[in-house]
Amino acid sequence: MRDHVSAVMSEVMAKNPAEPEFHQAVQEVAESLTSVLERHPEYRHAKILERIIEPERVVMFRVPWVDDRGVVQVNRGFRIEMNSAIGPYKGGLRFHPSVNLGILKFLAFEQVFKNSLTTLPMGGGKGGSDFNPKGKSDHEVMRFCQSFMTELSRHIGANTDVPAGDIGVGGREIGYLFGQYKRLRNEFTGVLTGKGINWGGSLIRPEATGYGCVYFASEMLATRNETLEGKTCLVSGSGNVAQYTVEKLLQLGAKPVTLSDSAGYIYDEAGIDRDKLAWVMDLKNERRGRIEEYAMQFKTAVYTATDPKLDHNPLWAHRAQCAFPSATQNEIGAKDAANLLRSGVYVIAEGANMPTHNDGVLQFVDAKVLYGPGKAANAGGVATSGLEMAQNSMRFSWTREEVDDRLRIIMRSIHKACVATADRFGSPGNYVNGANIAGFLKVADSMMDQGVV
Ligand code: NDP
Repeated sequence: MRDHVSAVMSEVMAKNPAEPEFHQAVQEVAESLTSVLERHPEYRHAKILERIIEPERVVMFRVPWVDDRGVVQVNRGFRIEMNSAIGPYKGGLRFHPSVNLGILKFLAFEQVFKNSLTTLPMGGGKGGSDFNPKGKSDHEVMRFCQSFMTELSRHIGANTDVPAGDIGVGGREIGYLFGQYKRLRNEFTGVLTGKGINWGGSLIRPEATGYGCVYFASEMLATRNETLEGKTCLVSGSGNVAQYTVEKLLQLGAKPVTLSDSAGYIYDEAGIDRDKLAWVMDLKNERRGRIEEYAMQFKTAVYTATDPKLDHNPLWAHRAQCAFPSATQNEIGAKDAANLLRSGVYVIAEGANMPTHNDGVLQFVDAKVLYGPGKAANAGGVATSGLEMAQNSMRFSWTREEVDDRLRIIMRSIHKACVATADRFGSPGNYVNGANIAGFLKVADSMMDQGVV
């Protein structure tokens, strides 16, 4: 079976050159699936693996817009419609200068398995642009979003493809995108999630990824009869996921001590408390400032600027028990993983997508620590997007408590599915195999039912 997987990987590399993140994501899943393909020759005959790695559709388009000085700007827009076997394509939009086809394909691929794990009927997709919202005025962001949606609107719809936010796309951007879609199509539908509460959004959606990730960590700890109370936690990023991870950690009595952005990180030995978190939320969401300012405001904190010459990030070398990478892909390299294990970390719950390089993943799995990969640990965001879609369809809103309860139940069931599936396929305690296989089986069986399409 290893030969079969190697052959598939060779083909992926040859057919998709210069897409290292996509190769990495496929490699990890394909390795997890060797035992499944051994037990299920019918999947091999139907070429399920070969089909699942090929997007159903890729849309790539020009996004022209005019900046505040009257200068024409041109960006590139994308939507990857990866797999619709179990529901409409679903997945966020990322606006960041690093965005390219390979990064969005890796994200769309991960999304297929993640959405399957949520128990909700959602296929997988992802999209975005190399547009950089940083330093742009609200008017520039609006004009960009309107131009982006003018093309995207041809390809999406409440029953076809339902985008949401991701890096660089928060409530402001979703508002501008929704407004333009409504104007073009003359219909008010749940075509995007992460909407404002007054116009179809769900309570708890902004909090869901961070909260869900912390719930997942609690479930992993519960397998060892432990809780998060009193645990020191390293958190990276300072955007949506990081902020609500810190909020939930505080509610559960843990002590978060770090936050970061692309320029550097802060370490606050005294802990990031509720007041400091409120200050960070204002800094990042309203003033759109840099995390460096935290250390000027709070004297218990030390700021360390990112050093591109280093082969590791010193954030991951602080003493702690838990880590919540919540910034971006591959932020934990081989040396970072070793540093984490050395400094006492034995719970890693990934808020970001694929934040750990495959070398690091192997170290975590070998060390038998509680390692929750992103496609399981951060699935609470898209799960709550699914709950937003359900509320939109019913034209009804659930209370905060109702949504939070459902989120908690979903995270518990994802955890249970990972543990049970890892056991069933001979790798107990291995959440990577558990998540990949459990996510795969539901999609694979649906593809089998639907014929060669
Ligand atoms: P935000 O844009 O709100 O925040 C992103 C944070 O990560 C910022 O602090 C940003 O710093 C930092 N960051 C981004 N790129 C880099 C980089 N190349 N190097 C270092 N730091 C970086 O995004 P989210 O919080 O929504 O997303 C964070 C992660 O979580 C992503 O991997 C995303 O795919 C994943 N995710 C998000 C979900 C959601 O619901 N929002 C759902 C599931 C996963 P700076 O401001 O300097 O760029």
